[in-house]
Amino acid sequence: MSILVTGGTGYIGSHTVLKLLERGKDVVVLDNFSNSGPDALRRLEDIAGRPITFYKADILDANALSKIFGTHNVEAVVHFAGLKAVGESVGKPLEYYRNNVAGTLTLLEACRAFGVKNVVFSSSATVYGSANPTPYREDMPTGGCTNPYGRTKHIIEQMLQDLHHSDNSYNVTILRYFNPIGAHPSGKLGELPGGTPNNLMPYITQVAAGKLPKLNIFGADYDTPDGTCLRDYIHVEDLAHGHVLALENLGGCNVYNLGTGRGTSVSEIVRSFEEATGVSIPHVITDRRPGDIAVSFADTRKAQRELGFTAECGIHQMCRDSWRWQSFLSK
Ligand code: NAD
Ligand code: UDP
Repeated sequence: MSILVTGGTGYIGSHTVLKLLERGKDVVVLDNFSNSGPDALRRLEDIAGRPITFYKADILDANALSKIFGTHNVEAVVHFAGLKAVGESVGKPLEYYRNNVAGTLTLLEACRAFGVKNVVFSSSATVYGSANPTPYREDMPTGGCTNPYGRTKHIIEQMLQDLHHSDNSYNVTILRYFNPIGAHPSGKLGELPGGTPNNLMPYITQVAAGKLPKLNIFGADYDTPDGTCLRDYIHVEDLAHGHVLALENLGGCNVYNLGTGRGTSVSEIVRSFEEATGVSIPHVITDRRPGDIAVSFADTRKAQRELGFTAECGIHQMCRDSWRWQSFLSK
């Protein structure tokens, strides 16, 4: 029996593939390389120390999916494949709805055709919108997303819940990630932002590498201890481990936050990065970024109680590992 990992050569997918292989699982990876590539696959195989069963395929391609499901005895799908750039989604909503929503629909139709009834899905804390108090709990109302990317995640969550309600032999686990950062300790796998990064950690590492002159801190007048926004940063290795636990505990329809339960400010991240790496990060305070909320962090109790999940890596390790990855990229 195999686990099909869609988007498995991407940032979070690749780390999860390694964890699944470490657990002795038979893994089949599918990716269209729209935001990764053969290099990532080679590095993944290098770390795994063995070839990986891989298909360059699109989740929108029903024929390709049929071939994969027809070839392998798939017991569960871990579904990472999707477009994820919030800003880009505002300018390209149709591309996001097609790729993420129609792609997931096509994938789920293939699952149904082949009797695959176990699905783990990559959702995001963005579905909590801006109206809920922190920490976010899984039973809080969702929706009210401020961009098409967030709306695709919200729609897919509903599709999966509807599927389970229509037939409760489907086991669906929705994982709401907070802010994944960090990289594989080998320094050979990590996040590949296309162009100038929008997210904080890749921006910081590119400043550290001298590729960008300085970090703009988007606002220091929020109602937080130091005025900069608080986010729940989680190491990608912890996140990957959360997927293994989710697969081991599939049953019914469940939603879990994957975070640390701690909010860290932008200024604290900058300071921690400097302490952990010895590299200074020139920065200036600028205006707030439209759409940002002051505080976002997870209530982690449900994942802890039901999955046995606890994030173990601290901010310094996240910074060190992110920097090792950037240094590898800069070589
Ligand atoms: P990523 O871009 O590194 O990985 C996604 C992978 O999916 C890429 O390798 C890409 O080539 C592939 N892909 C995209 N569309 C595809 C398609 N139609 N068919 C086949 N492959 C396709 O992103 P990531 O950071 O690893 O994110 C993985 C998932 O987690 C995404 O669904 C993302 O929305 C979600 N997520 C990410 C974050 C984050 O901050 N990184 C936060 C919350 C949720
Ligand atoms: N941020 C920043 N400068 C940057 C990028 C991000 O000050 O160049 C801040 C941003 O305002 C937010 C935090 O860092 O408070 C995390 O932003 P990111 O885009 O990484 O994640 P998200 O907005 O999805 O939480």
